[in-house]
This record gives sequence, C-alpha cells and structure tokens, in this order.
Amino acid sequence: MLTKKTLQLSLKSLRDFAKKSLPDEELIALDERDECPVEIVRYMSNPDKLGTQLLFIPEEYGGMGGSTLDVYLICEQMARIDLGVATSLFATFLGSDPITFGATPEQKKKWLGKIAEEGVLFAYGATEPEAGSDLGALKTTADRVIENGKIVGYKINGSKQWISNGGIAEHYTILANTPAGPTWFIVDAGTKGFAHDKPENKHGIRLSNTAALALNDVYVDADRLVGGVEGQGLVQAQLVFGYTRVMVAAFGLGAGWSALDRAILYSTKRIQAGAPLSEKQGYTHKLIVPNVVRLEAARSYIEETALGIDAGGEGTLNTEGAIAKYMATEAGDKAADDSIQALGGYGYTHEYMVEKISRDVRITRIYEGTSEIMEMTISRDRWQLHLKTRGQYYHDQARELEALHAKHPNVGAGAAALAAHALAEVMEKARVARLTRFQHILLRIGEWIAYAECAGSLARRAALAAEGKLNEKAHARFDATALAALARIFARDAAIKVAQDGLRWVIGADGVTGAEIAALEASSGLPAVLRAQAGQLADMDYIADVIYSRVKKEAEQPVLV
Ligand SMILES: Cc1cc2nc3c(=O)[nH]c(=O)nc-3n(C[C@H](O)[C@H](O)[C@H](O)COP(=O)(O)OP(=O)(O)OC[C@H]3O[C@@H](n4cnc5c(N)ncnc54)[C@H](O)[C@@H]3O)c2cc1C
Repeated sequence: MLTKKTLQLSLKSLRDFAKKSLPDEELIALDERDECPVEIVRYMSNPDKLGTQLLFIPEEYGGMGGSTLDVYLICEQMARIDLGVATSLFATFLGSDPITFGATPEQKKKWLGKIAEEGVLFAYGATEPEAGSDLGALKTTADRVIENGKIVGYKINGSKQWISNGGIAEHYTILANTPAGPTWFIVDAGTKGFAHDKPENKHGIRLSNTAALALNDVYVDADRLVGGVEGQGLVQAQLVFGYTRVMVAAFGLGAGWSALDRAILYSTKRIQAGAPLSEKQGYTHKLIVPNVVRLEAARSYIEETALGIDAGGEGTLNTEGAIAKYMATEAGDKAADDSIQALGGYGYTHEYMVEKISRDVRITRIYEGTSEIMEMTISRDRWQLHLKTRGQYYHDQARELEALHAKHPNVGAGAAALAAHALAEVMEKARVARLTRFQHILLRIGEWIAYAECAGSLARRAALAAEGKLNEKAHARFDATALAALARIFARDAAIKVAQDGLRWVIGADGVTGAEIAALEASSGLPAVLRAQAGQLADMDYIADVIYSRVKKEAEQPVLV
C-alpha cells in the first residue's frame, strides 16, 4: 500500500508528464493519425522513467504494491489524460493478472520481476472471433507435447480478437483449451507460428494498439502454463474480476469527469441570452448536475469496493466490481455525451476534446464485460441472496439505512432505504410470478440493484464525511455538505427508478392482475417515494452552486433535509 504522500506524488508526476508530453493538440493529432504513441507507453512503463506499472506489482516482486484504492486513483488519473494510453498500460496489468493470482512462486518471480525491472509490455488474450462475452465458446487449443511419458510443452492453435497491445507487447497471456479445460499460457512475441494482424481502425481509444492474433502450432515449454495445472484458466480469470472491473470503472469515472470539467469551464465563458450558460438552470440541471451526481455515486461505490477488496473481506467482490463498472462506465459515457451537448457546435468538433473523450469512453461499456453482461451478473448473484434470505436481503439493507437516517437525517439514507424496500418487494413479486424466466426482467433487476446499492453507498459516504471519518486517501473534491446533497439527489433518483420501473415491468410482464396493482403500489412504497422527491430542485441548485463556486456562507445556506 502506498502512503498518502507517495500516492499524491505518483498522481502529480502523471499529471506533469501528461502536461508536457501529451497536451491536447498532441492527443488530437495522434487520434486523427490513428496512432499509438508506443514510445510514450514504453516511457511510462520504464522503471527508470515514469514506472507507472510498478504501482500494481507487489513489493516482493520489485513493485510498489499499490492497494486497490491506490490503483483505482491512478487509473482514474490515467483515464483523465487519455483512455487509449491508459488502456495500453492497463493491458500489461490485465495480462499479468493471471500470473499475479494464479502462477507458481517461480513464475511470479520471473514474470512480475520482468515487468517491474524491464518494463516489458504484456497483452491479455482471451477474446476470440466467436468467443466474446461467452468465453466458454473458446476454440483456441493447447495440445500436450509428450516426451518419454512426460508433458514437456504445448502446441497452441487458434486466433484471438481485439487484443489491446496485440501488436506491441513482448509477452502475451493466452487462454487456450487443454484436455482439462481453459488454461493460461505465457507466449513471447516472435515465437514461431505466432503473428499479429494490423491495428484495428477503431471508433475511439485510437491511441491504443488493438490487434488480432493468429497462433499456428505455437510451441511453448510446459513451464509457460500459468500455475502449472491445466484447466484453471476461468477460475483464475474469475479471481480478479472484482479488482479489474473496479479499474475499468475508474476509467469510466476519469474520462467522464475529464469531459464534464471541460463542459463546466466552457459554460462559465459562453454567453448566451445575456448571461453565461452556467447561470441557466435549464442547462445546468440537465447537462451538468445529473452527471456530477451519477459520477460521484459511482465513485462512492468504487471506493467502498476497493476498500473492501483491500480489507480482504469475504470472497472476491466480483458482484460489487460489476456494479462499480456498470454504474461508472454508464455514467462516464453519459457525462461525455452530455458534454458534447453542453458545448453545442464546438462540442461536435475535434478541437474541443469532448468529442474525442466521448468516442474513447464508449469502450468502457464494452470491454472487461459489457454492460448487459454486468446487469446479468449482478442480477443473478443478488438473486441468490434474495432467495437465501427469503426475500429479506434488501429489506435488511433498508433497515440499516433507516438506522443511518435516524443518525444522519440529511444524507439521503431515508430515500435510499425506500429504494431498497421497493427493490425487495419487486424482486419478491418477480419470484412469485416467476418473472426471471424473461431475460429482460432479469437484466432490469440488475440495473435496479446497481442503483439501489449505489444510493446506499453514497449515503454512507456522506455520513462518514460528516463524521470526519472518510479514508484519508478518499477523493476529496466535495465536502460533507455537498456530499450530503449529492447523496439526497441520487437516492431520490434511485428510489423513483426502482419503484416506478419495477412496477412497470412487473405489470408489463403480466406478473400481477389488474386488481393487484394498487396493493403492489402500496407495498413497493411508491407514494412514499414520490413524497421523498420534495427538495430535489433545491438540492440541484445547491450542487450547481458548488460546481460553479457560488456557495453562500454557511449561515446563508438553505436548510436542506
Ligand atoms: C478496443 C477493444 C479492446 C479490447 N481489448 C481486449 C483485450 O485486451 N483482451 C481481450 O481478451 N479482449 C479484449 N477486447 C474484447 C472485449 O472484451 C469484448 O469485445 C467484449 O467482451 C464483448 O465481446 P464481443 O465483442 O464478442 O461481443 P458479444 O459478446 O458478441 O456481445 C454483443 C452484444 O450482445 C450482448 N450480449 C452478449 N451476450 C449476451 C447474452 N447472453 N444475453 C444478452 N445480451 C448479450 C452484449 O452485451 C453486446 O451488447 C477488446 C475489445 C475492444 C473493442
């Protein structure tokens, strides 16, 4: 784990480096030329230069052993600079993950040591032309090569698609089917029979190299099998999902904020109808404030999950990682799109960057598991908890939030509790009427879960801030009063989404008869959810004032409940 000071120094050196080597004009030019700045990626990976990758390598292998919280903040910063370059650095991180979590001690020493000391680039080769979200459809094979009755190596055959760093890495972790199932292998660039295609011509992250790989009778020694035991590949991949998804969530967050900060600045300078756009409520409350709220709700969930992973709690926090990724990448994408709108015609041109960021951030909803796969994962995992607790899982969370509300009545915990109660009721109705046989309902439940859990998280964050107990490294752009307002806005949004959409789809899937609808409205708390919307506009006004540094002195502030 890094000290606060080391973390701040690392973040600052990243910012300083970007200012010098990757100013906007350079980023735009590289994007237009569709060029990966390989030298910059190598400089950033070089332990004698920037050495960014050292942050995620454990100390025992020559790295700095950054915690999940440290690495998320670094990933957010990298995404604020450029998501293509960030993806390139992240590919080494992803490519080394099966090694970090599944390799033998000798393999870890050798390969992680090489990344730390030599700054070599890795690529992570899982996806295939016919195996994307469904990795089980993997076709690449690794056949045993046996000499004197002993497995001495493997011959790998197949192809990989859309591999980040595919054309520039020195080493590749490749997922292939052995007789015992999917297994990771480490393959060197230049090995006979191993080739990469030309870089893909992509919609965004054009500063990252993405290429297809072809493997024709590629021979590797048996010691290249990660962990030394066949068939562990999918388990090893699963072990890191909580962690890696938090990092892609940080990408969505960083890119989203990068676009939004440009829109915020622009709106203070652009005069229309006699005043800056930042003073137009219809503008700020549609294009700026809701994005601030969504991004900070996602950040709260990311930080809770990161701290949970660092505390080594129960399991791998894969579901929490999925919620963090889903919420942050959807929020980042929306923030970038709204930033184009916020800049009007200028937003639509290359020069103002938000257009590029919008194209870049789009990938975060696709790679490391698409948003739809996240919805499915979240829904299936939490559905088990709903069944196991006989429908009490979210009622229990609601009761905890009610207790929080009693202690901190202004952090949105009351509305977050309404969201959780409504969720429990809707899920129970879906169980009784067997509605999860409809995939659409299953995935929508995933979305409602993500909203309800983020509302709870942001309420807890605001309460911690009020008590002065936030983690010392936690992101600190918003003070306790602003966090409380953000939490109230998001909790109301979450409650209305769960209650209204939940009822809509229970009814839409014919899960209730006409006569039962009024009872469902009452049990899901819809009237209370509607009443809880009081104060929403005043809170949005307050956040706009915070964003534009117009906050009045404490005594002059409206009383917000
Ligand atoms: C720029 C870029 C970089 C990448 N880098 C890497 C890398 O370094 N390493 C690597 O291994 N991979 C990488 N990928 C691949 C990426 O992880 C996959 O594209 C992603 O997992 C989705 O797979 P797919 O593209 O085959 O889409 P598909 O799985 O075919 O999905 C297509 C659509 O269908 C939806 N869908 C899929 N299954 C279901 C279902 N069961 N029910 C309902 N809807 C469904 C999806 O949500 C999506 O909207 C990269 C991709 C890109 C574009």
